[in-house]
Amino acid sequence: MSLVNASSEPTRVVHGACPHDCPDTCALKVTVQGSPGAERVVHVQGWAEHETTYGALCTKVSRYAERTHHPERVLQPLRRVGPKGSCQFERITWDQALHEIATRLSAIAARDPQAILPYSYAGTMGLVQRNAGHAFFHKLGASRLERTICAPAKEVGWKAVMGDTPAMEPTQILESDLVVLWGINAVATSVHCMRDALAARKNGARIWALDTYRTPTCDAADEAFIVRPGGDGALALGMMHVMVRDGLADRDFIAASVIGFDEFERTVLPDCTPERMAEVCGLPAASIERLGREFARAHRPFVRLGSGLTRYANGAMTVRTITCLPAVSGAWQRGGGVFPGTSTGAAFPLAQVVTREDFMTQPTRLISMNQLGDALNGLADQPVKALYVYHSNPASIAPDQNQVIRGLLREDLFTVVHERFMTDTARYADIVLPATSSLEHSDLYRAYGGYHAQRCTAVIDPVAESRSNWDVFCQLARGMGWDEPFFRQSADDLIDQLLDCDTPWRDAAATKRLRSGEPVLLTPPGGGRWLTPSGRIEIGNEREERRFPCLIATHAAGEGLPLRLQPAVTPFALNGSFYERDELRARQERMVLLINPVDASARNLVDGQQAAAFNQYGEVLFSLKITGKVPPGTVVTEGVWWSEFIGGQRGVNALTSQRLTDGGRGSTLYDVAVEVRSA
Ligand code: SF4
Repeated sequence: MSLVNASSEPTRVVHGACPHDCPDTCALKVTVQGSPGAERVVHVQGWAEHETTYGALCTKVSRYAERTHHPERVLQPLRRVGPKGSCQFERITWDQALHEIATRLSAIAARDPQAILPYSYAGTMGLVQRNAGHAFFHKLGASRLERTICAPAKEVGWKAVMGDTPAMEPTQILESDLVVLWGINAVATSVHCMRDALAARKNGARIWALDTYRTPTCDAADEAFIVRPGGDGALALGMMHVMVRDGLADRDFIAASVIGFDEFERTVLPDCTPERMAEVCGLPAASIERLGREFARAHRPFVRLGSGLTRYANGAMTVRTITCLPAVSGAWQRGGGVFPGTSTGAAFPLAQVVTREDFMTQPTRLISMNQLGDALNGLADQPVKALYVYHSNPASIAPDQNQVIRGLLREDLFTVVHERFMTDTARYADIVLPATSSLEHSDLYRAYGGYHAQRCTAVIDPVAESRSNWDVFCQLARGMGWDEPFFRQSADDLIDQLLDCDTPWRDAAATKRLRSGEPVLLTPPGGGRWLTPSGRIEIGNEREERRFPCLIATHAAGEGLPLRLQPAVTPFALNGSFYERDELRARQERMVLLINPVDASARNLVDGQQAAAFNQYGEVLFSLKITGKVPPGTVVTEGVWWSEFIGGQRGVNALTSQRLTDGGRGSTLYDVAVEVRSA
């Protein structure tokens, strides 16, 4: 939607990039209007010439002008004047805010710097602003945050089989004859992947969608397979059993390019019959048979792997097992394979230029962001006394919400939140700082659903008194009395240094284009080789505790309760982001729990009523929606609602636990069991 004013005020169009935690990093064309110093964003559209995203934006960002100038943005620094969580604040100046923060942090650090905990994640994906606090907190000697809430288990599972081999080009989906959207609701979270899958179908490909309930992506696929939560690894094992049993394994490819297969075939696969795996994954044995055979016979199957299936206690093993499928069928050599997303971290020297671990005089303790509740309420011998939150909303998105909020209510905890909106976390802050949006600061972005990167500069001046993460940490450093030249640099200085380094990921011409703000495709190293220690795909792996992919049961939080809860995605929000937007919230209507008619009837529940889902972690009120889209035994809720919009109630994370995955210390947000009753 355009907010262009028909007056004679001048307009201009500037390039930008989407900063959100989404694989695509769409390139933007931003129209601004007004006289210099008073310009406003009036229209945001996709950059049609961008070679990956082609100008198409999702619903969330297509009205970014309204989000930038949203009436409920935090516009000035605020100081708490009421009880914690009451959302009563007074306006203060930046000087007062910075002085108070520096004074409080200095006093705490004088006794124990590790009593200070930063908390940030992916509210912005820009390399500078996202990581802007690292150097500051390293220099302070603060505790470090282990940022593993999303999908580290995916990386661990992939590496066990493929080592450092980069993911294939996402555009290979277009050449595929079988697109497998496995654990990804691409209609909601990866619109360009979905578009490419549909384009592949026009060329003759079939699309399978595998998920735990019938998502819109399942509706768009040719066939949908509904898997029991945490059962994906079992399904992959059953498929490999069928391939091997029926002589569909590519033994020439395996002999040339795979290690560990013979022992895997001899010791693991015989037990993985379709009948046995059916009991775990919930699909009929006949479906596992057909999936195995058709996958093996596909010439270039392209498996687009989502992240949700990694958020079970067996998440790393699940990914490891699925990644073996194209090794057994030989699809890797024909241009098929598994696409888990790209990892372009090595393309820019982040540690050297931005995060500066060398500022730590000694390694400090590491606290998992998945265990914030324990960190704020436990650690009795070395308690957290200050929490500094930026571009994240742990009161909503962190597991075990009741424990997180209990910690945020502590009177002796000094909490700073640097945000654009009054999120659930900001409501508990002692000091709230107004943050810029990506259109008001410079940064360097790289996609994780593709290989493109883009440098962006501020499109407009900061709205009201907003300041960027980077600027605030530099100002705080001066407030602490530090005189390192590092903290006197601008964000653009850091971006220049990130681009100055020589790397095989880009040549001089690509770097020049990046400097000028063009989106550029990076070139992953490897040249088609398997970048593993053995130089082959490693189905067997001596480095792992378990030498071969195998069946690992999940252990849902709330074990013993009969319904598995899936905290799923929605096209109208991104994790906890975008809930301030009335029109997007309206499209979700209310916080809903989807339940199968069989489960509803067994509990005398009716459509539209209020119902409570509960387990030992908490209780959450939902509006009930009875639907055959979820299978018996599973309930689903989409989105991570802010308490403000659900009557001050708890959100879905009051039911999730702080337990970690089998690899990567990731969250187990999808490994939840509940019971449901009328409320
Ligand atoms: S699809 Fe993803 S990258 Fe593109 S505009 Fe939407 S959130 Fe941003």
